Amino acid sequence: MSASPLEECAGCGDLRDEIELMRVVNNKGEVKVDPGSDLPGRGIYLCPQVKCLDLACEKNALKQELKVEITDELYESLVEEIKHG
Ligand SMILES: [Zn+2]
Repeated sequence: MSASPLEECAGCGDLRDEIELMRVVNNKGEVKVDPGSDLPGRGIYLCPQVKCLDLACEKNALKQELKVEITDELYESLVEEIKHG
């Protein structure tokens, strides 16, 4: 039995355990990766893959859900989190 809730990746749309996904939140206007899933604010979930980040960007999911513009700087920082975080 798994206690972790299922969440949907904002990119590919797969349902996965929350712990397998990367949560990205808009915390008081600042977009942050939330490894502990404990930051308040609007959040989305992504598989930890650049592919899913790209899909989410194509769908405007980050912009719509987090109410932020996806700048090159923000995109690059999320790619870094996926690769190293
Ligand atoms: Zn995904």
